[in-house]
Amino acid sequence: MIDNEGRVIDYLRISITDRCNLRCIYCMPEEGVKNICHEKILSYDEITRICTVLAGHGLKKIKITGGEPLVRKNMAVLIRKLKAVPGIQSVTLTTNGVLLESCYDRLIAAGIDALTVSLDTTERDVYQQITRRDELDSVLRGIEKAVAENRVRLKINCVSAMDIDTQNVLALLHYAERADVDIRFIEMMPIGLGRYFPMVSEAQIRQRIEERYGRLTPYDRPRGNGPCRYYEVPGLIGKVGFISAVSHKFCDTCNRVRLTSDGFLKTCLQYDYGVSLKPLLEQKISDEALWKVMEEAIREKPKAHHFDEGRKKREDEAKGMSQIGG
Ligand code: SAM
Ligand code: SF4
Repeated sequence: MIDNEGRVIDYLRISITDRCNLRCIYCMPEEGVKNICHEKILSYDEITRICTVLAGHGLKKIKITGGEPLVRKNMAVLIRKLKAVPGIQSVTLTTNGVLLESCYDRLIAAGIDALTVSLDTTERDVYQQITRRDELDSVLRGIEKAVAENRVRLKINCVSAMDIDTQNVLALLHYAERADVDIRFIEMMPIGLGRYFPMVSEAQIRQRIEERYGRLTPYDRPRGNGPCRYYEVPGLIGKVGFISAVSHKFCDTCNRVRLTSDGFLKTCLQYDYGVSLKPLLEQKISDEALWKVMEEAIREKPKAHHFDEGRKKREDEAKGMSQIGG
């Protein structure tokens, strides 16, 4: 799959539910998002069909996300189905970790290739302020299980929603001191509620890490599927990564499109561009016609986001990050 800018698209992020067991202040309103009724959500068979058609045209990597993917019933069934799609090389999952301890064995048995846990802080009161829930202990138990069993690669993603807290950054790095766990810092993007929070930049976090551990050295070997830039840090086994869509725009190498839980194939994080697939599936569209519709949308993938311009455009995305999947 190649878009009009010559970018090869081989990565699909699928949000399998809008629902979540946390209410992160930069992602979801306190009251949650309006429930979409079950019939409007893509079934596992519909998701698998879309992936099978895309895999026939170069899709190789899939990320399962949400909302919180582990709250959707039988999510391991979907992972198993996607792993069986010819051409798919990896199926990975991003979770807030609350249900990880209880789901870990099922994820592994279904063949998951890697796990990412989103954890912004290890301080209980800060965690409660950010997520509006008291679930830190369950998340930490899930991470401990994943580290101890070490059956698949584990990453921890941190979005700094508050002013930079040095202790917190260093506390997260302890996981990389103990094991080959990558710790990745993501700049807050002005999407949904994220636009009301300050962005802690990569440079600020780097400075804190270098003050404590010494110089970061770029790690040039391939690691992961996306735009993260990795560094080796003296004394750490895992790598430190930065996903800095604001300070280090990476649109010219973007390799991904997204699928929302209600079946919208979304071609750029910032714009409401794409095509709604659910009605087409219900009309029993052929695989060939489905591909043509998706190909057309992918070809028109926007050239770049405009986070740096600080102003809203008419075609900007109205959905929140919990609906898009990050
Ligand atoms: N619930 C799962 C989780 O938290 O990992 C998956 C969905 S969540 C939307 C995916 C990722 O998006 C999380 O790591 C979250 O921190 C991140 N995220 C949410 N809003 C964001 C924003 N405005 N800017 C950057 N990242 C954001
Ligand atoms: Fe839920 Fe993830 Fe959004 Fe937090 S970031 S509210 S865990 S979907």
